[in-house]
Amino acid sequence: MNLAAHLLRNAKRDPNGPALGRGDAIVADWASMAAQVAKLAGGLRALGYAPGTRIAIVAANSTDYAVAIYAIWWAGYAAVPVNVKLHPKELAYCLDHSQAALVFHSRDMGENVAASGSQARMVEIGGADWRRLFDEPIALAHAEPDDLLWLFYTSGTTGRPKGAMITHRNALAVATSYYADIDPPEAGGCLLHAAPMSHGSGLYMFPTLAIGAAQVVPESGGFDPAEIQTLWKRWNKVTMFAAPTMVKRLVEHPGIEPGNLRVIVYGGGPMYVADLKAAIGKLGYRFAQLYGQGESPMCITGMTRAAIEAAHKAGDDAILGSVGIAQTVVEVRTAADGEVLVRGDSVMKGYWRDEVATAKALKDGWLHTGDVGEFDARGYLTLKDRSKDLIISGGSNIYPREVEEVLQRHPGVAEVSVVGAADAEWGESVVAFVVRRDDSVTHETLDALCLDNIARFKRPKKYIFVEKLPKNAYGKILKTELRQRLS
Ligand code: AMP
Repeated sequence: MNLAAHLLRNAKRDPNGPALGRGDAIVADWASMAAQVAKLAGGLRALGYAPGTRIAIVAANSTDYAVAIYAIWWAGYAAVPVNVKLHPKELAYCLDHSQAALVFHSRDMGENVAASGSQARMVEIGGADWRRLFDEPIALAHAEPDDLLWLFYTSGTTGRPKGAMITHRNALAVATSYYADIDPPEAGGCLLHAAPMSHGSGLYMFPTLAIGAAQVVPESGGFDPAEIQTLWKRWNKVTMFAAPTMVKRLVEHPGIEPGNLRVIVYGGGPMYVADLKAAIGKLGYRFAQLYGQGESPMCITGMTRAAIEAAHKAGDDAILGSVGIAQTVVEVRTAADGEVLVRGDSVMKGYWRDEVATAKALKDGWLHTGDVGEFDARGYLTLKDRSKDLIISGGSNIYPREVEEVLQRHPGVAEVSVVGAADAEWGESVVAFVVRRDDSVTHETLDALCLDNIARFKRPKKYIFVEKLPKNAYGKILKTELRQRLS
């Protein structure tokens, strides 16, 4: 089955219902979106590409993004969404490595794509070539379950990006599991793309478009809390994916109100318990959590709104600080060293053109996530840190996450990241990089907070106050870079 069949279903079931929204406005209903997609797919097919050809998209969020990606699938090709924040060298690498035949790009990305040296045909979204591609509509192409749908270049906080091969089967499994484990479906409503469609937010099209939720893109194409606030009022039953840092910015936005917000699904990085509680305080029980990675997109563990509400009311911080329970379509366990392993229909087929990395990641059908975690007796998984982030001081293991959780409780701490520094006496010692809101935050106040909450040996020996933390193009903190600063 081709995933794009969902679009056809929507066009039949609810032809006049809102399909695409930009800012306040509805820009297409399902009948017209399906018609545009079938035509663009026709134009691509007319270029003579073989089934499975990779077509890249290098563009910020727009409603045309959704049209482009569904047209690629409709015609039986594979999409390669590339994050626009990548360094031009990384962009060039993804285009070359994926062997993309064509690149859809936004106008602002034209220069970078041209400079990449890619042999791919360039088509500017909205430009004359783009318009010419809307040709004779074609029927939905057939897709086998294991056909490539999305080549997902992973964020990687170290090394080269790797292309996780996500198939139609994977996407359908992910969508089904989402309804069971993250957010039971409700008719109507919309998905608000406040995060990149090339990555976090784009995957949410699988479950939401399938049930007929409109795909809404902020006018700015990016993440602006004031604009998001307006859109929560304008649209109904709003679903949104947000990384924990985005949730924090929303919560801290003056006068923020939930409006018609239905659910924020958070994930992509650790959500500290203190932050989750603050978010619930401001916006109510409108949070669900999801833990996944490009290699098993959106689908390892999770928690519904109801589960988070129950844990919050019971004062169960262990559950609030966890990433929830294994999703329905996967088996999840931890290896002897704590690494989280996943097996099931959401797990990628392998890495594109990289047998060595594939053999390392997939062993006996189990995906090795590189994340370290622990299950409790109730089946809740708590992530510790990636093994390389673990600090070993005086022979004791210290998980930075645990120290960060404590420091984050200080109202004057905006952001924090804890790493290990080489130490002649202890092997490693704990160092905290802190972005503070005001000067009231000092070594002494933070040390007192740690003494009240965690074992003495876990306390940072040193605090370094910084303006901001280094992050990669996906907003993940680069601990490697912090460690380098110390060496
Ligand atoms: P990516 O492949 O870019 O989506 O990054 C996936 C990684 O983000 C995972 O391997 C985890 O390390 C982290 N991650 C994803 N979801 C969560 C979550 N809910 N809580 C903590 N970390 C997460």
